[in-house]
Amino acid sequence: TAKAEGKGRSQIFHGQMDIDYHYRQQLKADLREAVAKDQLTLAFQPLLDISSRRVVSCEALARWTHPQFGTVPPATFIPLAEEMGLISEITSWVIRHAAVECSRWAGEVAVAVNVSARDFRGLDLPVVIEDALREAQLPPGRFEVEVTETAVIEERDLASTALGRLAARGIAIALDDFGTGYSSLSYLNALPFSKLKIDRSFVVEVDGNARALSLLANVARLGRDLDLVVVAEGVETEAQLEAMLEHTGVQQVQGYLFSRPLPSRDIAELIKRFNGRGAEQVLRKRKRG
Ligand code: C2E
Ligand code: MG
Ligand code: MG
Ligand code: MG
Repeated sequence: TAKAEGKGRSQIFHGQMDIDYHYRQQLKADLREAVAKDQLTLAFQPLLDISSRRVVSCEALARWTHPQFGTVPPATFIPLAEEMGLISEITSWVIRHAAVECSRWAGEVAVAVNVSARDFRGLDLPVVIEDALREAQLPPGRFEVEVTETAVIEERDLASTALGRLAARGIAIALDDFGTGYSSLSYLNALPFSKLKIDRSFVVEVDGNARALSLLANVARLGRDLDLVVVAEGVETEAQLEAMLEHTGVQQVQGYLFSRPLPSRDIAELIKRFNGRGAEQVLRKRKRG
């Protein structure tokens, strides 16, 4: 019976693999069509200054609503796009649209865009970004590029050249998901980063776990010592925020506590709500006093 069971299981497994295979092929075909028909959208999530709680920038995150399957997360479709050689088209679309949206926001709020390792091969990023900024009439100081440790290590030479050119033009480069990739730190110094985004896995336990808090505080200190703006990702509770405010040098925060990623019409409102009225009152007081 063990044999029979084994056989049955392997048939089920085989069946599952077929479903996965067909599902993936279907998704790939549909993704190509969605990109061609301009059906991806962007959601924006704010990054706030930890002490003033003002929005300093918003991260652009790609969204795809599949006609049958509904929301397909970027963790699924971005790797598919990379496999298919479709990522560069998506990235340049995201860059152009993010720049245009940002140019409509109140104040000096910047926009951040994620780039993949493959974009360093597939795109002339400095040129694509410069064109997008010119079209949107957005100054380079309001545009940021987020890149993961894995991406800069996979394409070290090309990444170094492209990021160097971008930084020279005043575009901020953020190292994304810091602490989850390779643990070689030498490139932190070799590449022109201006921001360190500490992965949410370092944030989860900071409330009540002294070792977790110490780890976050020391990673943040490494960033500060290297003159990087230090961001904590995935802040979900007031208790996490309080712990970071009191015990770490984290300067900016991003997470569900402040806002989920929002469609563009809602993010403009959120920026006004967080930065508008409070800021006006401060200015009025200063003028009076
Ligand atoms: P990421 O760049 O690290 O983006 C942050 C992710 O964390 C987003 O997931 C965001 O929704 C999620 N997040 C934010 N705050 C919280 C929180 O408090 N708790 C939890 N649990 N999660 C939080 P999302 O939008 O699903 O994106 C996942 C990843 O997909 C991104 O991670 C990024 O690596 C990739 N991605 C998204 N859009 C693009 C894109 O346009 N291009 C490229 N190359 N990658 C993208
Ligand atoms: Mg990111
Ligand atoms: Mg991140
Ligand atoms: Mg992350």
